[in-house]
This record gives sequence, structure tokens and C-alpha cells, in this order.
Amino acid sequence: MGLRADTIGRRRAFVDARRRSHELSTPPTGRIPGRRFLHSPGPTHIPDEVLDAMHRQPMDLADPRVDRTIAACESGLRRLLGTKGAEVFMYAANGHGAWEVALVNLAAPGQSVLVAGTGHFSESWAVQAEALGIRVVRTPWAEGLPIDPVSIEQALRADTAREIRAVCVVHTDTASGVTSDLAAIRRAIDASGHPALYVVDVVASLAAAPFAMDELGANVAVGASQKGLMLPPGLGFVAVDERAFEVSSRNPAPRFYWDWRSRRSELSYRKFCGTPPLNLLMGLEAALGLLAREGIDAVHARHRLLADTVHAAVRGWSEGGAIGFFARQPESRSVSVTAITIPAGSDPDAIRAFARERMQVAISGGLGPLAGRVIRIGHLGDINAAMVLGCLAGVQATFHALGIASGGDGVRRAAEFLAAAQSGRGD
Ligand SMILES: *Cc1c(COP(=O)(O)O)cnc(C)c1O
Repeated sequence: MGLRADTIGRRRAFVDARRRSHELSTPPTGRIPGRRFLHSPGPTHIPDEVLDAMHRQPMDLADPRVDRTIAACESGLRRLLGTKGAEVFMYAANGHGAWEVALVNLAAPGQSVLVAGTGHFSESWAVQAEALGIRVVRTPWAEGLPIDPVSIEQALRADTAREIRAVCVVHTDTASGVTSDLAAIRRAIDASGHPALYVVDVVASLAAAPFAMDELGANVAVGASQKGLMLPPGLGFVAVDERAFEVSSRNPAPRFYWDWRSRRSELSYRKFCGTPPLNLLMGLEAALGLLAREGIDAVHARHRLLADTVHAAVRGWSEGGAIGFFARQPESRSVSVTAITIPAGSDPDAIRAFARERMQVAISGGLGPLAGRVIRIGHLGDINAAMVLGCLAGVQATFHALGIASGGDGVRRAAEFLAAAQSGRGD
């Protein structure tokens, strides 16, 4: 009853926010000059090279270019994920589809998985597992903090019957902007002596924060196209090591479209259980090429720099104001997205609507338990310093316009941080 009332309340708030956005928005005939800055943590800004690569006719399925494009995507994703041996399966699906891929291949109804608590995204994954009839062991979520590896070790030790098939971990929870320590979690699983597979959701962290599947000892990595990979939504993928494939081939769960056994094939039509999403694959090949050309270490360094720039602004806004970080530990703040707490009583939907419609800066709001409490600035994918400064200036102007109690001067702090960091590098 409480939950239902809560859901209805949220839906009403959502509809109100929509109406306000429409009231503020330019009429459909009015052209918006310049570019709108897209700073949601997915979908993210798409590079022109990727848009151009997608703006082509699809091929007939016997055209050798189809297999070449698929092979380039598979090997590029393997390189990006830091794996030599794992097999890549791609799907015409979003991140939720890729979640389901991992679940239905690894666990049958009645079997168990452990989902480590990180907030909204871990809980959504857990709810999905339960809807599939899979039992879920949850470790607790502490607001603003990363996963406590000890809680995973304890939960695995407590599973003396060895019923847990997989430990499912969200690397960066996009709702809270908190990144957890994957290596520490690997050590906790090892210390427990439990044979569960290690399944990592890198949807929000891949191509932003370092991740190396083989070195880490992850058995499955789960990703999607519209975040660090700079593509439109609609392509999900998993990388699966031999052990996970082995578990899946003995798993009795009924499945068809997602099944790794039938997708392990040389034939493109079987690899995709039907027609491959060709234009998304053309875009993915182009995006992987851009990342390889920049160099993955440089990509990670750029994300670190731009995240630190956003963090400098938040520190400026928080001084003497009522703005702050949701992520409590500086070292676990994500390089992809920053969740910013706003003063009680202020309306994140009004902030978003004003920033989008009057400043041309699109940011995100709070999800799940953070609804109404935070705004989120995405800083991943195809972005540079000027885009981040523009976004921060648009947000700051919105704070002023709406009378949000923000102190200091976030934009000045961000510019000063960037100036120091860039001149310190000598380039
Ligand atoms: C966005 C996201 C998802 C879900 O992806 P969709 O494409 O929206 O279904 C899953 N996990 C994480 C960490 C995400 O950021």
C-alpha cells in the first residue's frame, strides 16, 4: 500500500515535471541555435565520426562486410575489456537486456545469485533476477559508500550449501555516482573459498575508468552502448570466460534469444539470433577505433581530469551553500557521473527543466531512493574541457535563477583547477 502510494506520488511528480518542461521549452517550430550540451550519464554525446559511420545503408547478410564489421567489434570490445580469451556476445538490447543475458545463462529458477548492494542499479538487477524466479542474496547498501567487500565474503561463507551461482557487482552505480573496488571484491570472493562466478556490470564505467577483465579475474563483464562507448542506446554485450560458459552450458534455465550456446556460431544470423543491428555495429566499430586512436590510458586520464573538474565546481558550490556530494569518500567518486545533493525543499525537476530549456544543458535527476534529493552531471564519453565548463556554467546560472542556495563560485574553481592541471602537464 505504502509502496503503491509512493509509486503513484512519483508518477504524478513526473507528470508535473514534464508539464513544466513543456511550458519552458521553445516551440517546436523554433530552432535552437548551436548545440545542446548533453550531460546525462547515458545516453551521452555521440561523436560526429560515429554518427557518420551509422549514416549508411545496411548490407545484405551475405555481404562479407557484415562478418568483417562483427569481427572488428568483437576484437575491439575484447581489447577494451582487457581480455584475450573471453567470448563476446552482442545483443540488440539495452543494459537491462544485457543484465538478463547474464542472469538467464548463469542461473535457473530456484537457484541463487548474490547481488552486492550499490543502490538503485543493484536493486533493479536484483528485482529482475527475482522476476525470473532466481533467488537473490543481497548485501546491504550504505548510502554514499562503495561496496563493503567484507559483507560479500561473509555472505559467501554463510552459503555453506554453495547455492550461490554468481556474485553480481555493479562497478559504478550511476544513480549514486559511487565506484566500488573490484579487485578488493575479487579478493573477498577468493578468501571465502566459494566457487561462485564473478559477474561485473561495467555499463557506466567502461571506457571511462580502468577495467581489465582477465587481470581482475572477472568471469563475465556486462556492458551497453550509450555511455562511455559514445553510441546510441540499443546495443548490449557481455564477455564470457570459459568457466562461465561451462556453467551456462549446464544451466537448465529455459531461454532462447539470450542463449550463449546457440549464439556461439560463425554465422552472423545465429550470433544475433536473427538480423544483426548493423548500423549500431558500424557505429561501434567507429567508436572503438576512436578509443584505440586516443589510447585507452589517455581516455581514462581525460575522464579523471574532467571528473576532478566537476568535483572542483561542486566543492565551490558547497562552500557556504547547501550543495554537496552524495558520494562520501573522494576516492570512490565516479569518473563518469557526479551525484550532487541539493538543498531540502528544492526541486530537481525544476532545475533540470530550466537548465535544459533555458541553458541548453541537459543533466539528470535522482533515481529510486535518491529521487528528489540529487541532480546528476554526466561527464563520460565524447567530452572535453570546454563542454564540461559550459555545462557547469549552465548549472550555476540555473542555481542563481532559481534561488538555489549554492555558495562560492563553482565555475571559477573548475576553471582554476583545469588551468593548474593542464599547465602542470606542460601541454
Ligand atoms: C544505464 C545502466 C544500466 C541499464 O542500462 P539501460 O540501457 O538503461 O537498460 C545498467 N547498469 C548501469 C551501471 C547503468 O549505468
